Amino acid sequence: MNPYDLPSTWVLARRASRMNPSAIREILKVTERPGVISFAGGLPSPSTFPVDAFAAASARVLQEDGPAALQYAASEGFPALRQQVAAGLPWPVDPDQVLITTGSQQGLDLVAKVLVDAGSRVLVETPTYLGALQAFAPMEPEILGVRSDYEGVQLDDLRAKAEGARFLYLLPNFQNPTGRSMSEARRAALAELAAELRLPIVEDNPYGELWFDRAPPPPLSARHPDGCLYLGSFSKVLAPGLRLGFLVAPPALYPKLLQAKQAADLHSPGFNQRMAAQVMAGDFLQRHVPRIRALYRSQRDAMLAALEREMAGLGLQWNVPDGGMFLWARLPHGLDALELLPRAVEAGVAFVPGAPFYADGSEDPEAQRTLRLSFVTASVAEIDRGIAALAAVIRQATG
Ligand code: PMP
Repeated sequence: MNPYDLPSTWVLARRASRMNPSAIREILKVTERPGVISFAGGLPSPSTFPVDAFAAASARVLQEDGPAALQYAASEGFPALRQQVAAGLPWPVDPDQVLITTGSQQGLDLVAKVLVDAGSRVLVETPTYLGALQAFAPMEPEILGVRSDYEGVQLDDLRAKAEGARFLYLLPNFQNPTGRSMSEARRAALAELAAELRLPIVEDNPYGELWFDRAPPPPLSARHPDGCLYLGSFSKVLAPGLRLGFLVAPPALYPKLLQAKQAADLHSPGFNQRMAAQVMAGDFLQRHVPRIRALYRSQRDAMLAALEREMAGLGLQWNVPDGGMFLWARLPHGLDALELLPRAVEAGVAFVPGAPFYADGSEDPEAQRTLRLSFVTASVAEIDRGIAALAAVIRQATG
């Protein structure tokens, strides 16, 4: 049977059956009704995009380096940008280890192509970033969720599942979807255990700069550089439309990732790379990123205050993220976030149900109760109204 209703001339590869529409994208379609206050999206606040700085940089790049900026370029990336990336990381990195990618999402795809065979075991946190599950799935791995708590993966469960795994994928800082971060002690113990088990770590850190009160502990890659492959992004500190990210690979792995990158898109846009390098030259990020932190912190505080005020006595539980864009909540017993969503949208507010972020539901039998709330795209007034509307929906559903 042909589930895609394609004309019979076309035969799909086996891996295509593992490609599914992102559950989130599908859910977002429902939430994109006019007038709905959305805590559902995963988008940075457009008010933080440095439009003027890019206008000036684009003019300058075209003036000074136009033909080269518009020509094909090296797959590794623009040298000045690779140097800036290496210099900005808190452990010694050679610019030759840096591969500029078309968003860190491409980094996830390249990692899967280079490291995963059909049937390979891949370990992820519970829950984890849905886009990573989507990038890994076509390689037909066995994806196993490692039991996780508010400090990250639990080491006893990791030890039990590590046998033969190609890597552990994790987000140490202000995780998508939960907003949680790994404690310093957990990082130290995990780096030690990974070295003992010879378990490679793929460390994805797009939110690490978006801390509110204090910088998070150094990444695992800083403790254990030979055993880690690090993914970074410019999406949250500059703008996602640039589609620029990077990976830092141990030298032995770099050539294969580079070859996969060549096959995928030859190189990431040279014009964008030059503009980003131009914008970030000097102390731009030192001035710009604190403004993003302050904005997101004030929006997180508004959401926490609204939750305290509106949810009193309703049995909703939530965490207090120290950075990033997301807050994770758990509905009262008996409620299902996916079932509640249409009623919430009807009442003018949207969120993302948490269940799709679980690699396999077995790690948390109550995954259906979870939901993700983004606090960065709605204004404070919208946050107040949206949380009040959500409280009314929960009150009605429980009453
Ligand atoms: N990793 C995580 C955890 C993310 O949340 C995202 C974006 N939502 C990405 C990677 C991809 O980001 P980009 O491709 O824009 O760098």
